[in-house]
Amino acid sequence: MSFASLGLSAPLLKAVAEQGYDTPSPIQSQAIPAVLEGRDVMAAAQTGTGKTAGFTLPILHRLSQGDRPRAGSQIPVRALILTPTRELAAQVGESVATYGKHLPLKSAVVFGGVKINPQIATLRQGVDILVATPGRLLDLYQQKVVRFDKLEVLVLDEADRMLDMGFIHDIRKILAVLPKQRQNLLFSATFSNDIRNLAKGLVNDPVELSVTPRNAAAATVKQWVHPVDKSRKPALLSHLIQTHQWQQVLVFTRTKHGANRLTKYLEGQGIEAAAIHGNKSQNARTKALADFKSGGVRALIATDIAARGLDIDQLPQVVNFELPNVAEDYVHRIGRTGRAGASGQAVSLVSLDEKKELAGIERLISQRLTSEAVTGFEPTPGGGPKVDENEGRQPRGGQRRGDGGQRRGNGGGGRGNSAGGRGNGGGRGGDSRRGEGRSASSSQGGSQDDNRGNRIDSGNRGNRSGDAPAQRRQRSRGGQRRSGGGGTSNGNV
Ligand code: AMP
Repeated sequence: MSFASLGLSAPLLKAVAEQGYDTPSPIQSQAIPAVLEGRDVMAAAQTGTGKTAGFTLPILHRLSQGDRPRAGSQIPVRALILTPTRELAAQVGESVATYGKHLPLKSAVVFGGVKINPQIATLRQGVDILVATPGRLLDLYQQKVVRFDKLEVLVLDEADRMLDMGFIHDIRKILAVLPKQRQNLLFSATFSNDIRNLAKGLVNDPVELSVTPRNAAAATVKQWVHPVDKSRKPALLSHLIQTHQWQQVLVFTRTKHGANRLTKYLEGQGIEAAAIHGNKSQNARTKALADFKSGGVRALIATDIAARGLDIDQLPQVVNFELPNVAEDYVHRIGRTGRAGASGQAVSLVSLDEKKELAGIERLISQRLTSEAVTGFEPTPGGGPKVDENEGRQPRGGQRRGDGGQRRGNGGGGRGNSAGGRGNGGGRGGDSRRGEGRSASSSQGGSQDDNRGNRIDSGNRGNRSGDAPAQRRQRSRGGQRRSGGGGTSNGNV
């Protein structure tokens, strides 16, 4: 099967060829014809399957075929793509710009954590396709900067994550102001009952697609476990990086503090490392990611939220320094490698106290992970010396107060997001509605990007890196974490 046989127009085929794609991925070959036909779609597809092009290409096709409506002097938004995090918004926005580069359509990305004014300026000029995180979008709508009366297509991308992050109320508010007559595309890695409930009121006679078995990890990712004492994990990681000469490794820790501590440790071992998490400023995050992609940083140490949506071409190696509390996050983590058919490796360093999490993960992926002790790092029967995870952390009370301030506060930043605007000084950021954003990000407008994808015409670009509203997710997930096993990390992810 070729992209041409799917019925896409020549400018899109040209853009796809420029990206070096020869064959549509399974989600693309199923979703593109359905979307072109104008059908609603409900697709179970996780990041890494090529889902973004699966909805972006046919949307661009349809919008470029129809007449561009006018609403007064402004071009009204015709396609709205909602994403949970600023990283994902940035990436989707980049895909829209890349695939649409030979079409006369305008696109923009808006999200929180950065100034709103550049976004307002961009939107006032009018855009055909808007990629947004929900909180900032609502702000902009309430400020009457954006209108949806001519909206033709709505996409909810990573809908499961949006619900996890507590966006349901914002989503419902947004749905309430959209025209009833529209095409709806719902993408989600998993289809929980909550997602199905949301879908009921959203999609109409949808084409249902599924490209990966529920909660399956990409088959191309080789996964295994190294059992090890907790206290020896840093040394084992350093050993693995050095002996295997891993040049680009994404490492997941559970907490921001843990990410900082590990970064320092690796640097002390002569391994270039950088941390990416919600306490880092937007600029620091962007720089860490850019350095990691360019090879200046060998190990990127990330928390789950920060890493969500990162699309790093051909990432060969993922390490779970600690297993996540939520088994689904394991699948998301290792989805950073083995993307679009490439092979990848995911290794988990598992200490005795993580047995329960490991069992949960194995249940979820219906697979037993090979466990292999590394010589010199074999676990001791009692699990080795105790590790003080709180070492170096702020006192609990202070932390809480800090979080509270972030949650409710944000006097200056307002709720919100802002878009970055290429040429207008904004950056892409995530959604930091209700001030939950980040401590240090609000006015970062740095529009460094990684030079992937050429956006023509596209209103906004900028920081690819951004933060998800961690605290909100924490809050909303608190009740949902089933296997949570000893509550860790609230507010620290
Ligand atoms: P996504 O699942 O949309 O995040 O896409 C994952 C990665 O696959 C992105 O880096 C895309 O650029 C890449 N990709 C998407 N479609 C194709 C294709 N048909 N062939 C090769 N790579 C692709």
